Amino acid sequence: NQKITVVGAGLAGSECALQLADLGYEVVLFEMRDKTMTPAHKTAKFAELVCSNSFGSMGEHSAPGQLKWEAQKLNSHILQVAYEAQVPAGQALGMDREVFSALITERIKNHPRIEIRNDVVSSLDQIPRPAVIATGPLTHDSLAESMRQHFGDEFLYFFDAIAPIIDADTINTDIAWKADRYDKGTGDYYNCPMNKEQYNAFIEEIQKARKIEPKDFETTDFFEGCMPIEVMVERGPQTLRFGPMKPIGLDDPRTGRYPWAVVQLRQDNKEATAYNMVGFQTRMAYGEQVRVFRMIPGLENAEFLKLGSIHRNLFINSPKRLNKDLSSKNDPWLFFAGQITGVEGYFESTCTGLMVSRFLDQKLKDKPFSPPPRESAFGSLLEAITDPTRAEHFQPTNINFALLPPLPEKERDKEVRKKKQITIARSALESWVN
Ligand code: FAD
Repeated sequence: NQKITVVGAGLAGSECALQLADLGYEVVLFEMRDKTMTPAHKTAKFAELVCSNSFGSMGEHSAPGQLKWEAQKLNSHILQVAYEAQVPAGQALGMDREVFSALITERIKNHPRIEIRNDVVSSLDQIPRPAVIATGPLTHDSLAESMRQHFGDEFLYFFDAIAPIIDADTINTDIAWKADRYDKGTGDYYNCPMNKEQYNAFIEEIQKARKIEPKDFETTDFFEGCMPIEVMVERGPQTLRFGPMKPIGLDDPRTGRYPWAVVQLRQDNKEATAYNMVGFQTRMAYGEQVRVFRMIPGLENAEFLKLGSIHRNLFINSPKRLNKDLSSKNDPWLFFAGQITGVEGYFESTCTGLMVSRFLDQKLKDKPFSPPPRESAFGSLLEAITDPTRAEHFQPTNINFALLPPLPEKERDKEVRKKKQITIARSALESWVN
């Protein structure tokens, strides 16, 4: 029976290994934790969620929702387990991170065709082909160096930041109230209100706070969706009010009106004992975070279960260096999956792992390459990371409507347009699956 090596049991590697094993292949899965940790992971569990505990929107007419719809059609293991570990999070698919990783780890450990090796892979030469590299944005340095040699200088990096997590018992619920924006959903978020003076004082302290400066790389290109709050503040004192602290649609029950600004907290585990600060990734020093975040009304006595931090992120210039099936142009039996291929996000990473399992299966069976249709969310994500016209200014991307192909006819109404795009995506994917 054909053996396939998968390196990295994160989101992409776990999905890929389980899919390949389901297809009948023998899988050797390398994972270095907990012998060797990354700067962001905390456990030895597979598919650990390093920052937020959300896979984003499940909305029927949203692009992330469509990606999930398609992943379900393709029997994604990660998605099935996410539903098993689901916690209330309004329109988003939120999970209890510990339950989620424990369930994935169990599925992998119990699979008769997956052999787990708890080791660092330090060089691409060390592993037999076919192989899938899914070592993520925090790939071990030695392997990153080996990849740099393999790909040459179009191997890119940027920085990502993590938001703090708070002990629920220490949230002052006399001030923070539960509600979703515009009362959509089931009122899962805590909202901490600020008036103008409190907001201005808060911004000033963020500006003054000591930050951890990255030393080993000269540039810091933050991904827009995961930008640290202090970088947003640098863009202008009101930026946070138009970003994560947007108050509109969040009327304070004590005043009946929306406040000047709001900090939202999202449930982080099933027991609702932990909440994370939505959009509050930061590189402020730990002591400074505690001081500054306790200025937030409702968080005066907050205990932090985890503080925010910042990390290097690594990705390949895929449009230049990878084939359409996500194998290396320098080695057709060496595949890549997950965030290092230039997708951004837990669930996008998962989906590339799923795709690679299909591509490898096609190649091993000498079948013609058949990618998911361009009209689908899967196909659009693949296009975004392999389209050669994107090579020059390649930047990681998550799924969004701009990646889906435009409608053949002009449609001015945005909502109607999105619905039509979704309808086309669904029927295209369904015919591909069939
Ligand atoms: P990972 O899930 O990181 O898995 C890679 C695995 O490979 C790890 O288990 C690692 O231990 C292992 N590994 C690495 N090198 C080796 C080696 N040489 N040998 C053996 N094993 C190895 N996305 C979101 O959607 N929401 C977020 O809130 C979010 N926050 C993030 C915060 C940070 C700090 C970072 C870095 C990224 C964040 N991302 C977030 C982006 C991305 O979605 C996650 O990093 C996601 O986990 C990527 O999935 P992956 O499978 O590619 O990599």
